[in-house]
Amino acid sequence: MIALLQVPDAPSAIDSVLLLLYVAAGALFIFGLRGLGSPRTARRGNQIAAAGMVLAILVTLYYVFDRSRTDDLSVLWWVIVAGLAIGGAVGALLALRVQMTAMPELVAAFNGFGGGASALVAFAAIVATDTVVATNTPYATETEITVGLSIAIGVVTFSGSFVAYGKLQGVITGRPVALPGGPYFNLVLAILMTAASVWAIVANEPLGYWILAGIALVLGVTGVLPIGGADMPVVISLLNSLSGVAASMAGFVIGNQGLIIAGALVGAAGFILTVQMSEAMNRSLSNVLFAGFGTEGAGPIDAGDKPVNSATPEDVAISLNYAQTVLVVPGYGLAVAQAQHAVRELATALEERDVTVEYAIHPVAGRMPGHMNVLLAEADVPYDVLLDLDHSNPKFPNTDVVLVVGANDVVNPSARDDSGSPIFGMPILEVDRAATTVVIKRSLSPGFAGIDNPLFYLPSTMMLFSDAKGAIEHVTEALLEL
Ligand code: NDP
Repeated sequence: MIALLQVPDAPSAIDSVLLLLYVAAGALFIFGLRGLGSPRTARRGNQIAAAGMVLAILVTLYYVFDRSRTDDLSVLWWVIVAGLAIGGAVGALLALRVQMTAMPELVAAFNGFGGGASALVAFAAIVATDTVVATNTPYATETEITVGLSIAIGVVTFSGSFVAYGKLQGVITGRPVALPGGPYFNLVLAILMTAASVWAIVANEPLGYWILAGIALVLGVTGVLPIGGADMPVVISLLNSLSGVAASMAGFVIGNQGLIIAGALVGAAGFILTVQMSEAMNRSLSNVLFAGFGTEGAGPIDAGDKPVNSATPEDVAISLNYAQTVLVVPGYGLAVAQAQHAVRELATALEERDVTVEYAIHPVAGRMPGHMNVLLAEADVPYDVLLDLDHSNPKFPNTDVVLVVGANDVVNPSARDDSGSPIFGMPILEVDRAATTVVIKRSLSPGFAGIDNPLFYLPSTMMLFSDAKGAIEHVTEALLEL
């Protein structure tokens, strides 16, 4: 099976055309990625990348078809058709059923399967050495190195992704789990993995690859367990990058240019995203991976004798009725409550009263990059009223009412004012500078970072304690009655 995808030493004209088609698929991936850079072009970007993937699959199928004219490969056809049918059906079903709030888990599962698949491809290369890939025996050292890397990275991605999945689902504790020896525990595993691969390559011993896979399986688990559930989206982005690297390595093993290009793109894009997410939280990647952020855990916050200005939907409607400018700040709670359509309806009611409504989007609002943009786009909120951090902050002091819907950490002034705060230095939306800030959430409970928010106790803040969707609907009703 492996040799089928390899380009012969003296490529025929048709082989050259197929290679060019792989390059064309790679170009489509790149244009697709470019489209994903803006919500306006993201849908088109996805379609372009999907077209690239269809092209790459067709080219691969042609290789199989071409070779099956000379060899009896009818069994292989069954395997391919079954793989396409089962994989396609499971993927489509999951994509249709998944809740927006569970999207990070879905991505984690996809990464895990991707890493596992790459490792299996590399394993097949070793296992099949004496049978199908007779011409390749023994492997060149560089191929054996890529086999080792593909197995190591693919298996770590596999087990790490499912631990991340479990943490997000609450099946595994979200708290950082301390390992004996801390990060040195994983360092020892990494050294053992290197030793196993060197043994496998130098002694030409397949058992070394099995040992490598076994240690990698453990390293995936022990690498992710010490990281708090709160940091899982960053970890998932990193694992996404690793699944790309593993795929690329597998591409080198079987000589498949399409896989090399696609894997390299996923690896690079995932890594850039990982770094950007860490920066948006003002934390280094090593801090995310090794600091055990969130160890203290998040309990309900006791306001003590701090004043809380509790408001009703009618109070909020009256404030909005007198406003000329309103900035909506969506957060994770908006996603949980699925309040995007209700928010859009409130905005429409306000716009009919000549109130200017815009949305301030923090880069890490919600639980995954672009979370808020996707939700608001689903409710047909126009892109040109979505403001990023740099454009929102100068507007807050001149805004009449800021409506914070299910956001907490991204509007926490401690990140700016309190050098002892765990999130000190994280850029925030400075909603506390507005004339009036309405915060809609169910209680004083903390958000993702597990810390109290002084915004809730400011005289200019009105707290509307309710589920975001119901609260917004009541505010709209009250507004329409005024
Ligand atoms: P937070 O997690 O800080 O707060 C969300 C708030 O929503 C909670 O305090 C909760 O309060 C409230 N809430 C939950 N359910 C509802 C509901 N049904 N109706 C109303 N409110 C609800 O969210 P933010 O968006 O402000 O911040 C995102 C956090 O996630 C940041 O700390 C960020 O660093 C982190 N993060 C984000 C990533 C990303 O890519 N976006 C990646 C990694 C981390 P209550 O229970 O009282 O209702």
